[in-house]
Amino acid sequence: MVDVETQSILVVGGGMTGLTAAIEAAEAGREVYLVEKNPYLGGRVAQMHQYFPKLCPPYCGLEINFRRIKNSGRIHVFTMAQVEYVSGRKGAWDARIKIEPRYVNEKCTACGKCAEVCTSEIDNPFNYGMDKIKAAYLPHDMAFPLRYMLDPSLAKSAEGQTVKDACQYGAIELDMQPKTVELKVGAVVWATGWLPYNAKRLDTLGFGAYPNVITNVMMERLAAANGPTKGKILRPSDGKAPQTVAFVQCAGSRDENHLPFCSSVCCMASMKQATYVREQYPDARIYIFFIDIRAMDRLESFYADLKKDANVTFFKGKVAKIEQDAATENLVLRVEDTTAGSLNMINVDLAVLATGMQPNTSVYHQPTFAERDDYGFIAAQEVTPGFFAAGCCRTPNSVSESVQDGTAAALKAIQSVVRR
Ligand SMILES: Cc1cc2nc3c(=O)[nH]c(=O)nc-3n(C[C@H](O)[C@H](O)[C@H](O)COP(=O)(O)OP(=O)(O)OC[C@H]3O[C@@H](n4cnc5c(N)ncnc54)[C@H](O)[C@@H]3O)c2cc1C
Repeated sequence: MVDVETQSILVVGGGMTGLTAAIEAAEAGREVYLVEKNPYLGGRVAQMHQYFPKLCPPYCGLEINFRRIKNSGRIHVFTMAQVEYVSGRKGAWDARIKIEPRYVNEKCTACGKCAEVCTSEIDNPFNYGMDKIKAAYLPHDMAFPLRYMLDPSLAKSAEGQTVKDACQYGAIELDMQPKTVELKVGAVVWATGWLPYNAKRLDTLGFGAYPNVITNVMMERLAAANGPTKGKILRPSDGKAPQTVAFVQCAGSRDENHLPFCSSVCCMASMKQATYVREQYPDARIYIFFIDIRAMDRLESFYADLKKDANVTFFKGKVAKIEQDAATENLVLRVEDTTAGSLNMINVDLAVLATGMQPNTSVYHQPTFAERDDYGFIAAQEVTPGFFAAGCCRTPNSVSESVQDGTAAALKAIQSVVRR
């Protein structure tokens, strides 16, 4: 007989790592509470166009996971939720979860009538602010749960009532308040993942000043069919097809003034994105500026294949500065060729900064008792008996490594509630 109060598991973070931990634990018979800050599950992977190395769309894998959640019946999902407080010991943790108002309840059928009548717009967070959406919106078209939400500015405005009146299902609650839920669980898996390093801090590389300098996560959205340009990779300044694209590796990474560590996936991510450009623009020229390429294990063959492409130049050099030609809004990259020792000026239409993965635990201070390493990652897999860290809040990882880490954490969490 399972005592659900002390044998259940709290998973914090609904990205690939947390989803995996939650599903594996539930399918092994545990009751699971899954707490996710965003209005949807899937984490950063949900915002990608394709996965390396196979280049399949992430929704293949995510859909299977969402089906497993629905079928398990043991996973209690809280979206727009964060842990305010967690404390206890192996077998007996108390957690307080704060849930922000979505202003739309479970009666929503995702018919979209609220968005149809809504006139106010906000920056689209799913597309990193590259386009606008209605303030009554579905976070993205594959969102799980598939439920609309209102931006707080709309819920509090006069237009809120018009939007509410358009919903024939009574799903809109303009007076929805934040809620608090108290949980008692036997073990905790912390899987809060990463955020893109703030490229505005790289003051010589022009992000924010020049529209055609973008980041690698923005490139994922530009290439995605549900992105701001419906999947067409276009220059932000004028909507033109780029003919020369530069990928700037280690933008802020392995740099003691920014992220001193290697995020381990950025080289692969840029090589993958080079294939997005090559597929859309067969004549486009691509430069990949690198310190050294990191493509571990079997990923080496992806690198070897791309090197055979005559339109892709791997350039061992550090990009010191990016400037803009005011007339054309083209970019001029000042690059030091570290092999020849020469300085080069290279003109491109679009530059993609390969910024690294900063752990969310470096900016968000729960759990207070977990020791962080010098970079803000949680320092150990077992933080304390019954409390485990997994995925990119512990170390930078690829998706398959995150899945392995989430599975390992689920096993450890189950062991900790069983062996007492
Ligand atoms: C540009 C780029 C491209 C990439 N492409 C690939 C690829 O093609 N193939 C590949 O294998 N890997 C790729 N990766 C790596 C991949 O993104 C990570 O492996 C993956 O996101 C790790 O999943 P995660 O669950 O650990 O973290 P995340 O995806 O960050 O998920 C963490 C979740 O926790 C939530 N969260 C955060 N804080 C809290 C909180 N306080 N409370 C509740 N919830 C919280 C977040 O909202 C998020 O949903 C890429 C990385 C980059 C930078």
